[in-house]
Amino acid sequence: MSVRVRFAPSPTGFVHVGGLRTALYNYLFAKSHNGTYLLRIEDTDQERYVQGALENMLDSLMWAGIPHDEGVMLKDGKVVEEGDKGPYIQSQRLPIYQKHIETLLESGHAYHCFCSKERLEAVREQERQKKGTPRYDGHCRSISREEAKQKAQNAESNVVRLKLPEKTDIQFHDLIRGNVTMNTEDMDDQVLMKSDGYPTYHFAVVVDDHLMEISHVIRGEEWLSSTPKHVYLYQVMGWESPIHVHLPNILNHDRKKLSKRHGDVAAEDFRRKGYLPEALVNYIALLGWSPKENQEVFTLEELEHQFSLERVSKSGGVFDVKKLNWMNSHYLREVDLNRLADLAIPHLEKAGLIRESSSETEKEWIQNLTAVLRESIDCLSELPAKASVFFRDDIEIEEGEAQEWFRSDELKTLKEPLIEALRNVDDWQESTIKKSLKPIQKETGLKGPNFFKPLRVALTGNVHGPDLMLVIQVLGKERVLKRLETLPS
Ligand code: GLU
Repeated sequence: MSVRVRFAPSPTGFVHVGGLRTALYNYLFAKSHNGTYLLRIEDTDQERYVQGALENMLDSLMWAGIPHDEGVMLKDGKVVEEGDKGPYIQSQRLPIYQKHIETLLESGHAYHCFCSKERLEAVREQERQKKGTPRYDGHCRSISREEAKQKAQNAESNVVRLKLPEKTDIQFHDLIRGNVTMNTEDMDDQVLMKSDGYPTYHFAVVVDDHLMEISHVIRGEEWLSSTPKHVYLYQVMGWESPIHVHLPNILNHDRKKLSKRHGDVAAEDFRRKGYLPEALVNYIALLGWSPKENQEVFTLEELEHQFSLERVSKSGGVFDVKKLNWMNSHYLREVDLNRLADLAIPHLEKAGLIRESSSETEKEWIQNLTAVLRESIDCLSELPAKASVFFRDDIEIEEGEAQEWFRSDELKTLKEPLIEALRNVDDWQESTIKKSLKPIQKETGLKGPNFFKPLRVALTGNVHGPDLMLVIQVLGKERVLKRLETLPS
């Protein structure tokens, strides 16, 4: 059997990290089986349509670096479709659903329902009082096909419902959950077609997964309880059901499903904050799947080789920003400096530290700046705060130890010799700067912390920070001398 999997988001406008992980696992599963991974858009809920949402989501997936082989794509900023099983956007497939709903109506596995909103609300209220699962009471089940056709032709508003058999067990095997059984007593006569002529998710998903020849449906566990309905639909349509795989939820620290209320949950949020896509992808890969060895840092290629659904757990993984930060700071240290500078520039621009369209020399300087600071940040949006000392003429001296060093005799002793030595450095490089400072340490007898701490405080206002020689290089000769010259004597 050839593997064909899909990620099928609704165009909400953003990609939740849970969705991103579903996309990733689908991608990895396809890769590890030489299969095809496609992207379909499930937009049958027209009330929830958001302008530009689709483009945003496709852009986020591209940013994350999880490419699909088929379906809806973004090419040069335009939404296009690739593949021979399209259209891949559900709202463009209405005639297809219409055709298949007719089949179900003809075979008696579905029926028109003409109940008004008010009646349905009343039924729901009654059911609620019974404390069971609120279900439709089957009021329109007995309307004959002929009568229903007539009513529908007379433009009476109606929906089409699935006609479930009574007291019947529906069973399926989930690759992660094992065997799942649900009795139709606990299921509702699901609406398959809405009065606006659009299918519901439950109907469209079955028709599309079948027609797009999906072999494995890999999706979030919130869909597990709907799957019996889908499985029953496959049965009555006479179609083979795909293999179902329900991934555990991503949880917050209270072990509740991670939602927007808990802060950042969208790939876009992390992108905006300056997380590297490979760090986010690496991190979410581990939220539910555990590798054989005790390895934590994976390239996408390594994941492609090592990923298997057998090692996806049933229980949800807790989304831990601290761990993600650790992962991101790891990647920030490894990333190529040129790319790092490109990624840093928008953050520095936004903070007003640099102008737009910086020149090449500036870019080189920004590379050095990020090289100095990347050790002390978890994500790039933290960069401007750390970098401001490199842009401002005045610096603030931190409370506590820094203040003591700032007023210390050591600094007073060092001031003039430092100015003298550094003024004579022509080639303003870390190594030459270091060399020029050696004699001062000898002459003054101030060494180690007694030398470096006051110097760092004089130049940055802090006792601790990144490699001081690099800091001096990046600050530049002019600024360094100015800071030293304005020190109290
Ligand atoms: N459209 C559904 C969602 O956005 C996809 C569910 C599925 O994969 O079947 O969650």
